Amino acid sequence: MSNEPSPGIEVVDVDLGERSYKVLIGGGLVGRAGALIAQYVGKGRAFVVTDANVGAQHLAALSQSLESAGGLRGAVTLPAGEATKRFDQLTELCGYILDAGVERGDLVVALGGGVIGDIAGFAAAIVRRGVRFVQIPTSLLAQVDSSVGGKTGINTPQGKNLVGAFHQPSLVLADTDVLSTLPDREMRAGYAEVAKYGLLGDAAFYGWLEDNAGHVLTRRDDAVRYAVRRSVAMKAAIVARDETEQGERALLNLGHTFGHALEAWTGYSQRLLHGEGVSIGMCLAYRLSEARGICPPQTAARVSAHLKAAGLPTRISDVDAETPPDSDEFVRLMGQDKKVRDGQLTFILARQIGEAFITREISKDDVTAFLAGEIG
Ligand code: NAD
Repeated sequence: MSNEPSPGIEVVDVDLGERSYKVLIGGGLVGRAGALIAQYVGKGRAFVVTDANVGAQHLAALSQSLESAGGLRGAVTLPAGEATKRFDQLTELCGYILDAGVERGDLVVALGGGVIGDIAGFAAAIVRRGVRFVQIPTSLLAQVDSSVGGKTGINTPQGKNLVGAFHQPSLVLADTDVLSTLPDREMRAGYAEVAKYGLLGDAAFYGWLEDNAGHVLTRRDDAVRYAVRRSVAMKAAIVARDETEQGERALLNLGHTFGHALEAWTGYSQRLLHGEGVSIGMCLAYRLSEARGICPPQTAARVSAHLKAAGLPTRISDVDAETPPDSDEFVRLMGQDKKVRDGQLTFILARQIGEAFITREISKDDVTAFLAGEIG
């Protein structure tokens, strides 16, 4: 069978030697998933993991397609939401996968947002010492970020994503049609991660986003496809150079150290979605860069103006909470992040739009003082 994708389908290669895989981007992929998996991954029966929201909309089409292609071992629907990424859910999920008779040659298929991708990918990494898995990301965030790169895992009371494994998918099917059922707030939250790619490494893409955010957010097909393809291509290139985050991959965490602290403070609740925390975090990173004279004046204002226009929060005070954390508490929460080494925080700052860099040169005292000013 030809390895050429159909017209209208964009392909990004994630180049990782024997762990290389393709990301297919376009409409109608869920309904063709069985044939595409057979074409790109090969034989093996599938076990699908989804959540209640996504399953209600898209599981039937996927199951039908898988059944008619290579076979279906079964499917499980987990509760929707971040709270699903925890040990007891993982234990149950591994049980479902084993009870369904999944063998080494089979595959786990994650149909959902980043939560399902992360927990299903982790289960695939550990059942039978590792089975292949396919990501079918259904949120914008998952299409542009979490489905690519092989980070899988769950949260613990100590913090987010602290238990997990690197386990690369064998194929990613980013079906842009399924975004039609994604709630608008989730679409905006995912958009923060799209903007992140422009901010961290591609000023021209950022300029394009400033002109086209409205088309992306209203899901105009060509705009969504371009935004997803450009984001995935940037992530793929970075991951190919630094698969396990020894260096450059940390750039993808622009805004995340601040964002994770805000998420921890709001208890990972609906009060602040991951992408919303990232949006505020990116604004903080640019304001900190500007305050230290690293990037030119007005750069941070340009960043927050765009994110605000996209309907995203840009300041700590935008978070729905009775009392903001004080700056010491905020820094303590940032310290829970995995990007801490020898007790020193790693920051992603920026010299300008499209040029982020990694630094460990910012002292705790300096960050605390900066945040005290931000919290006001
Ligand atoms: P999510 O999986 O909770 O999805 C957001 C919400 O949208 C959920 O309620 C879900 O049910 C719903 N949804 C998703 N797709 C839908 C669709 N097409 N139609 C209707 N509803 C839909 O969250 P998310 O924002 O996709 O991902 C956030 C998670 O991703 C976090 O746990 C974060 O840690 C993780 N993440 C992982 C990586 C990585 O590299 N592994 C990178 C970034 C984020």
